[in-house]
Amino acid sequence: MQLFTIFGDPVSHSRSPLMHNHVFKTLGIDACYTRTHLGDGSKLRNVFFAKALSGANITVPHKEAAFAACDDIRGIAYEIGAVNTIINENGRLIGYNTDADGFIAAIQSFGPLQNALIIGAGGTAKALATVLRQNGIEPVILNRSSNRLDYFHENGYHAYSWETFTPHSYDLIINTTSAGLSDDLLPLDASLLHQLLSRTRCAIDVIYGKETPFLREVKKAKLPFKDGSDMLLEQGVLANYLFMHGTVSTDTIRPIMQQSFLY
Ligand code: NDP
Repeated sequence: MQLFTIFGDPVSHSRSPLMHNHVFKTLGIDACYTRTHLGDGSKLRNVFFAKALSGANITVPHKEAAFAACDDIRGIAYEIGAVNTIINENGRLIGYNTDADGFIAAIQSFGPLQNALIIGAGGTAKALATVLRQNGIEPVILNRSSNRLDYFHENGYHAYSWETFTPHSYDLIINTTSAGLSDDLLPLDASLLHQLLSRTRCAIDVIYGKETPFLREVKKAKLPFKDGSDMLLEQGVLANYLFMHGTVSTDTIRPIMQQSFLY
């Protein structure tokens, strides 16, 4: 039996075991996917081999530690510096980032976009800025504090703190902060958010499974919107495709994995 896991801290909330096990079971694949609580990211490589894993996903806060743990990095993960999927290829750990392409798949339904405002400057914001630019959608970054903006300035993005930002019109506004995840906070000042939403075409929150204060305001503004469920699904579809070494198409995996969202 092939073994897979998700590493994180915390990890008990993760829906990944449900999503991947449903695909394995439906397709009759002899594999099992578990959760692994990992406090110290530097131990990831040792734990991976100790558990004799075929592959793994990585969630907050270990995506950068996972990047460092790999023998080789493929695709956009190299530019982002963060890995959310690891494949064991004959004892070598190969790292990928499926969050970025999963996000692009999730926003296709909004139609063509030229620019986007990313609220937040953490790991997810880095991944989304990189992949948006690669897809011809120019991102602007707005963060509560200035201390995480260096990465974006060094890579040629327009990036602002609350103090230095002047609002413009955007096709898409993305909440990548954890505001609203386990509290009832907006990711930025309410009057600034209202100003922005009045000049925006559509919006997405990467948080899933709940209506955040951000999405409540988006709804009031009557904009087309999504939560993070489609991104979660699409990153999972791409990870599962990698776990099965491309032997099953993403078009086969997607509807099966989507069924697990009904549980
Ligand atoms: P990080 O910890 O790397 O970054 C968090 C960011 O949120 C920082 O920019 C921080 O600002 C900002 N922030 C936190 N609290 C507030 C607040 N109260 N007001 C304003 N800004 C705030 O987190 P990640 O980027 O790794 O993850 C962010 C979110 O994305 C999580 O909720 C995670 O669950 C979700 N996610 C969803 C995925 C999906 O598939 N749907 C995939 C990946 C992530 P500052 O710098 O000032 O501290």
